[in-house]
Amino acid sequence: MLPKPPPRDNGLGFLFLPPYRVAGTSVAGEATSIMVPELDVTFDLGICPRAMLPSKYVCISHGHMDHIGGLAYWCSQRYFQGMGVGNIICPEPIAPAIQRMLEGYNDLERQKTPYNLIPLKPEGTHEIKNNVFVRAFALEHTAPTFGYSVIERRSKLKDEFVGLPQEKLTELKSQGTEITRWLEIPLVAYVYDTVPVPAMVREDVRKAQLILCECTFFEPGDRARAKVGMHLHVSDIVEWLKVAECQAMVIGHVSRRTNLAIAKSFLVQALGKEKADRVHFLMDGKANKERFERQLLDAGEHPTPVRGGGKFGAGPFRGRQGDARGPGPARGAGGSGGGYRSGPTRG
Ligand SMILES: [Zn+2]
Ligand SMILES: [Zn+2]
Repeated sequence: MLPKPPPRDNGLGFLFLPPYRVAGTSVAGEATSIMVPELDVTFDLGICPRAMLPSKYVCISHGHMDHIGGLAYWCSQRYFQGMGVGNIICPEPIAPAIQRMLEGYNDLERQKTPYNLIPLKPEGTHEIKNNVFVRAFALEHTAPTFGYSVIERRSKLKDEFVGLPQEKLTELKSQGTEITRWLEIPLVAYVYDTVPVPAMVREDVRKAQLILCECTFFEPGDRARAKVGMHLHVSDIVEWLKVAECQAMVIGHVSRRTNLAIAKSFLVQALGKEKADRVHFLMDGKANKERFERQLLDAGEHPTPVRGGGKFGAGPFRGRQGDARGPGPARGAGGSGGGYRSGPTRG
């Protein structure tokens, strides 16, 4: 009998949750990398699939290998393929270690890969797109860990000035009166590797349109294990969903031995169908594929088999990716394959 070939890479999990695409991989203890292309951001880089390269920003939650293993590769490939310097947002306490790691690679490669390290303190923010900010907040895990919210800031006329004619507003403004206030719209929250913490119900998380979160344990008997490993248990998710206002919650960091059908039926039982319907599992390839095909049909498009890039192929990303051709040393490769040898020399 012939030996078995290695299992075929079945690609990335993918969900279209308008207006966001969520793509990535997340398996407990193996790797978590989740990209939201519309926001130019990837959360964690346990591994670095090619699809993640165009993200201008990565937000690292903590330094465990399953969340950071692909970071150096991402920086290097982005630079190598002429996609610009990678921006790494990270918890301030782990910034020196990240720097040491990346400098270690410089020594190994005898080549300086540039990167832009942006350490944040809890409540620190960084603008990633025009008026769109990432904000960090502390979680509790076995290593220093931050969650992130992505918020949009909109300038809004203060209530007392609503209805005034434009000339009057201009006059007030020229006199130095502050006529507008900033309104915050929470877009996405990323909460990975933590025990249940009050931060899960802070406004920019509770009201986020989309919550990306971990849930490592599902068995009723696994609560103690969740506590020891400092992870979320499905019972924590159930409590959270009673107050979270998100339109969708995408769960990752599920262990390979979890039966998703059982996990889903538990959620329906505990929450009722309507609330449970908001919950998706990133790695539930079959359900997510069917869902996306329904979305295509509803939009009057035909689900066509797509080539390459795994289960969903490059289809959902084709031609709509963010910054695939930033400034850099090695133009031409873009984000779409080929050109691996066109960059600066490397041994
Ligand atoms: Zn993890
Ligand atoms: Zn961890």
